[in-house]
Amino acid sequence: MSLHIPFDNSYARLPAGFYTRLDPEPVTAPALIAFNDALAAELGIARSGAGDGDGDADAAELARIFSGNATPPGAEPLAQLYAGHQFGQFNPQLGDGRALLLGEVVDRNGRRRDIQLKGSGPTPYSRSGDGRAWLGPVLREYVVSEAMHALGIPTTRALAAVRTGDDIYREGALPGAVLTRVADSHIRVGTFQIFAARRDRDALQALYDYTIARHYPEASDPHDLLDRVIARQAALVAQWMSVGFIHGVMNTDNCTLSGETIDYGPCAFMDAYHPNRVFSSIDRMGRYAYANQADIIVWNMAQLATALVPLTEDPEAAVKRFTDQVHAMPDRIRAEWEARFAAKIGISRPREADKTLVSGLLTLMQKDGADFTNAFRALARDDARDQFTDRAAFDSWAGTWRARIAEEPEPEALMRRTNPAIIPRNHRIEAMIAAAVDGDDAPFHRLNAALARPFEDDPETEDLRRAPLPDEIVPATFC
Ligand code: AMP
Ligand code: MG
Ligand code: MG
Repeated sequence: MSLHIPFDNSYARLPAGFYTRLDPEPVTAPALIAFNDALAAELGIARSGAGDGDGDADAAELARIFSGNATPPGAEPLAQLYAGHQFGQFNPQLGDGRALLLGEVVDRNGRRRDIQLKGSGPTPYSRSGDGRAWLGPVLREYVVSEAMHALGIPTTRALAAVRTGDDIYREGALPGAVLTRVADSHIRVGTFQIFAARRDRDALQALYDYTIARHYPEASDPHDLLDRVIARQAALVAQWMSVGFIHGVMNTDNCTLSGETIDYGPCAFMDAYHPNRVFSSIDRMGRYAYANQADIIVWNMAQLATALVPLTEDPEAAVKRFTDQVHAMPDRIRAEWEARFAAKIGISRPREADKTLVSGLLTLMQKDGADFTNAFRALARDDARDQFTDRAAFDSWAGTWRARIAEEPEPEALMRRTNPAIIPRNHRIEAMIAAAVDGDDAPFHRLNAALARPFEDDPETEDLRRAPLPDEIVPATFC
């Protein structure tokens, strides 16, 4: 088999200071774990000589390409430069420390997409890191990013996962792996920040022009760009919250201009509902706690605004206008949040009084430690009562709620398409990773298949849908 990837690289045409060109570092024994055929087809990636019946040879060739051992024709691998605020502290230089952009393709829908290897070896931006990823985070990102996509949430995608055959060292020796990530682009708030911090006006202008051409051709000026990014990010964070997703590391280098979710390091979906829930082992202050995400995204947009100031003609007037734009963002998030949570209880056109209904339910869930996903899903079946310990309090809430949704045209259908039956639960992810470390990839494949149809009640996946038992609860995630 030979693989044809129709590369059409635009980032590699940007000024040299935007990246470093280099090839991936070969690995010892690449072995394919997964290849996303549906996504490959969408990207226009074609296999020739496939179907000769030799699946093993095909897998070996895919493993060579998506481990970085064979560079496909047309690829121009490069590590991108960026900066970023990490937990609020500005780091003037980050960059792809373990990733390489192979190049871009224009997909079947005319959309330009990045194809990036993650875990492909050290780069000039690796700092003290080894440039590698271990199997656990690679499989977590594969499963969770594909699950987010199936949930309808903008996200980077997973094209391939490959074992490297090399051990890497974290707490001990762990199997190495490479993930191939697909994104609308890898332009981050931190990409703007690095050139603004360096006062490199020409580079900033080139990045701005590139971003406008690639993502926002209708945008008329830096203010308009900020407004459009704010709109996408406000919608994104409301979507995360509506499925109980906690990103875990919303640093400005993990915040995209395209409005896609990126970087599935220490992310997690909540089981029991609590607004202050944190999983990430490195988020000691709870900066990126579940409910804080709505504030942090505003803070991140303020950093983007700051980086855009040098592009304006009258900086003083621009700062004032940027400030107003950022100050208007919380209301936009609230509106997105209210619409999504109203839909989750079956309300298509929310009114002022419905806010109390939503917050009332969340308060009950918090008090009882109800499972976020299962409690919402049960509403459509009208057996949510079982999800609560304080039944009297639930019944009282439900009385008002039933009266309200009696006025709705199709509340059950609305709830069934907004409340997933299945999410990637932490304990299932941990079990899937443990199996893969022992060489058994079946749980990984099963989890992926189950998460591809999140709004269906599939009796075959009952065990994947239930909340963790007390001894199954995963208290923290590591990246
Ligand atoms: P993150 O917190 O995952 O967004 O990563 C922050 C920065 O650390 C980025 O510049 C990454 O490329 C870099 N980085 C993370 N892990 C490694 C690693 N194992 N080797 C080299 N660089 C890394
Ligand atoms: Mg990152
Ligand atoms: Mg990361």
